[in-house]
Amino acid sequence: MIQLESLVDAIVRGTTLAAEVTRRVQAEDAGAHGALAKAGNEPVTVADYASQALILREIAIRFPTVSIISEEASAPLRKKQSESTLERVRQLVSDSLSQQVTREQLYAWIDHCGDKESQIAITVDPIDGTKGFLRGDHYAIAVGVLDVGTPVAGVLVCPNLETFDSADRKGVVVTAVRGGGAYEHPLDPEGASSRRIRVSARSHAGSLRMLASVESSHGDPKLVDDLIAAMDLRGGKVKIDSQVKYAVLARGDAEIYLRPRSTREWRDQVWDHVPGVAIALAASARVTDQDGKNLDFRTGRRLENNRGVLVTNGPQHDDIVRAIARLDGNHA
Ligand code: AMP
Ligand code: MG
Repeated sequence: MIQLESLVDAIVRGTTLAAEVTRRVQAEDAGAHGALAKAGNEPVTVADYASQALILREIAIRFPTVSIISEEASAPLRKKQSESTLERVRQLVSDSLSQQVTREQLYAWIDHCGDKESQIAITVDPIDGTKGFLRGDHYAIAVGVLDVGTPVAGVLVCPNLETFDSADRKGVVVTAVRGGGAYEHPLDPEGASSRRIRVSARSHAGSLRMLASVESSHGDPKLVDDLIAAMDLRGGKVKIDSQVKYAVLARGDAEIYLRPRSTREWRDQVWDHVPGVAIALAASARVTDQDGKNLDFRTGRRLENNRGVLVTNGPQHDDIVRAIARLDGNHA
C-alpha cells in the first residue's frame, strides 16, 4: 500500500529541486533556453528535460513501481543535432545533484515509467506553460497522482506566483491529498508560513472573476467573452499561463476557470489537469468539462471523453454550464 503523504513528500522534493533549475534557466537570456520545436509546434526547452529528470529520479528511488505518465521523453535529446542541448541538460542536472551524471543516467530518469500495471499512476508535466516560461511569465511544475483514474493528490510548484502574504515575494508550492485539504507553502524556506487554502465564497454572478489562458489558440476566447457578457460576470478576467490558474482559484483569488476545447480535434492532456484537479477538489471547487460531465481520467494520456474543462468555486457552476450550452449549442 502506497502512503499518499509520503509520495507527495517525494514529489515535493523532486519538484523543488526542479524549480531551482527552471528558475536559473528562465533568468538567462531567451537564446540560451534551448527551445526546440516538438510535434504540433509545442516548444520544449533544456529546462523541461532537466526538470523531468530530477522529478523522476526522486520517484524512481523512492517509489520505483508507481506507473508514470510523463510529457517528455529522451528520444529528441538522443538525436545528433541535439548534442549541445543534451550537454546543457546534463550540466544542469549534474549541478543540481552536485555529481557528474552520465547520459545513460539522464535518459533512464527522463524515460522512467515504473510498472504499467500499478494502481497508482503519476502524471508529470515538467514545465506546464512552456510558452509562458519562454516569455518570462507564469509556468508550473505539475505532478499529479491518479488512483485508477481518480485524481487523489497533486503538487503545483508556481515559481512566479506571489506568496499570499507578500506581493514582492514569489514562489508558491501548492499540495493536496484527497481527504486532507489543500495547502500553500513558500517555495523558498525564508518565505511565509504555510496555510490551508480553499475556494472563494463569492456567489453573486456580478462579482465573479474569470481565469483564462494567455495563448488564445489554447482555448476559445470568444466563448469565454460571450459567457462573461451573457452572465454579466463583472469580477474581471485574468489571463495566466499553465495550471497556476488552478492554484489561483483554489486559494480564492478567482472563481471561474473556463478552458473551452480549442478545436474539434484537440483532446486535453492528462498532465495538464490531474494535479490542478486534485488541488481544486481538495479546496472544495467543482470540476467538470464544459458540458457539465465529470472528467474521465481513465483514457490514457488524453481526455478522450471530455470537451474542455470548467472549474468554479461552486455556486454558479450549473448556471455556467447551461449558459455555455446556450452559447455553444452546436456540440461535436
Ligand atoms: P495554458 O497555459 O493554460 O494555455 O496551458 C498550457 C497547455 O496548453 C500546454 O501544456 C499544452 O499542453 C496545452 N495546449 C497546447 N496546444 C493546445 C491547444 N491547441 N488547445 C488546448 N491546449 C493546448
Ligand atoms: Mg502542460
